[in-house]
Amino acid sequence: MANVTLRNVRKTYTGGFEAIKGVNVDVADGQFCVLVGPSGCGKSTLLRMVAGLETVTGGEIDIGGRVVNQVEPADRDIAMVFQNYALYPHMSVFNNMAYGLRNRGMKEAEVKTRVDEAARVLELTPMLERKPRQLSGGQRQRVAMGRAIVRQPKVFLFDEPLSNLDAKLRIAMRVEIRKLQRRLNTTSIYVTHDQLEAMTLADILVVMNGGQVEQVGNPLAIYEKPATTFVASFIGAPPMNLMSTRIDEIKSQLGAGEAGILGIRPEDFVITEQTPAGGVALPLTVEAIERVGAETFVYGSRAQDEQRVAATPGELPPGEVIVRIPGSEAPPIGQKIRVAAVRNKLHLFSGDGRTRIE
Ligand code: ATP
Repeated sequence: MANVTLRNVRKTYTGGFEAIKGVNVDVADGQFCVLVGPSGCGKSTLLRMVAGLETVTGGEIDIGGRVVNQVEPADRDIAMVFQNYALYPHMSVFNNMAYGLRNRGMKEAEVKTRVDEAARVLELTPMLERKPRQLSGGQRQRVAMGRAIVRQPKVFLFDEPLSNLDAKLRIAMRVEIRKLQRRLNTTSIYVTHDQLEAMTLADILVVMNGGQVEQVGNPLAIYEKPATTFVASFIGAPPMNLMSTRIDEIKSQLGAGEAGILGIRPEDFVITEQTPAGGVALPLTVEAIERVGAETFVYGSRAQDEQRVAATPGELPPGEVIVRIPGSEAPPIGQKIRVAAVRNKLHLFSGDGRTRIE
C-alpha cells in the first residue's frame, strides 16, 4: 500500500518566505492526485518536498505508512517525471531508461526485461536505439516516463510534464498518462497550472492558492460546488461570472442587505425573456462574440441604467458577463439581450469570497 499523507506540511524558504502554510492532503493507494493553482501558489514546492528535494519546515509527509521527512530521495521509493525530461543526450533511449536501474546494481537480464516491458507499454520499442535528439517531443516525454516506470516505484510524481508540448500533443499525452496510470495503478501526484488538465486527470483534485489548500475533492464535485470565489473562477473555462449582490434577495437567512457574491457559470445562462422563479435575469448588451464551433461565447456588458430588473438580486454593478450558448446561435454585436439562470444554478458566496453560502 502506498498512500501519501501530508499532515500540516509547512515550508519556509531561507530568507523567511513562507511558501507552504500548513497543507493537509490524503492520497489513497492507487489514486491520481493533481495539485493545481496559479503560478507561485507553491505546488512545485509541495511536490519537491514529497520527493525529498526540499526540506520540510513543519508537519509530516507519510508515504505508505512511513514518515519520510528525514529519508533521502533515493530511499523514498518514488519516481519523478519533469517537464524538461532531463534525458541524457548522448545515450540511446534504451540506456536512458536503463541508467537508474544499472546504477542500483540491478542484473542486466532484469534491466532488459524491465526496459523492454516499459518500451512496449509506451510504444517505444522501435526507437530503443535512437538518441533523444532523434525523437519528437512527445516521444521524449514517453522516454522520461519510461525511466520512471522501470523503477516500479510506489509513487509517481509529475512536475508539469506536458508543458513543453504543443496543444494537440498535450491532449494526446494527457490521455496516455491517464491510461498508463490506470493500468499500473500506481499512486500519483501531478502538478499543473492547467485547470483542464487537472480536471481530466484527477481522481482527487487539490486547488492551491498562496501556499494553502482552497479545496480538495473529486473534480466534478469541485466544479459543481466551488468552496470559494477563487476556486469558482480558477476551475472552469471561461470562468464563472461573479457579481456582487445583496444576499437577502436570494436568500433570506442572512442579514437583510448583507453584501455577497453571486456566481453563475457561462453555460448556465440561457437567452430568454422569461425570468425563472427564484432565478436571476440580466439585460445585456452584446459586446463581442467568439464562435468556436460547437459553442459560442457571448461577451455582454451590463449597462448602468439597466442594472435593476425584476428578480435581479439587488444592485448589480456594471461589468462583463460571459454567456455560453450553442454554436448555431449568435446575436449580433450591439444587440440588447436578456439572459437568465435558474435558481439551482446560482452559486452564492460571502462578500469576501471565502465562504460558500450555497
Ligand atoms: P509555478 O507554476 O510558477 O512553477 P508553483 O506553484 O510551482 O509555481 P513554487 O515554485 O512552489 O510555485 O513557488 C512557491 C513560492 O515560493 C513562490 O512565491 C516562489 O517565488 C517561492 N520560492 C520557490 N523557491 C524558492 C527558494 N528556493 N527560495 C525562496 N523562495 C522560493
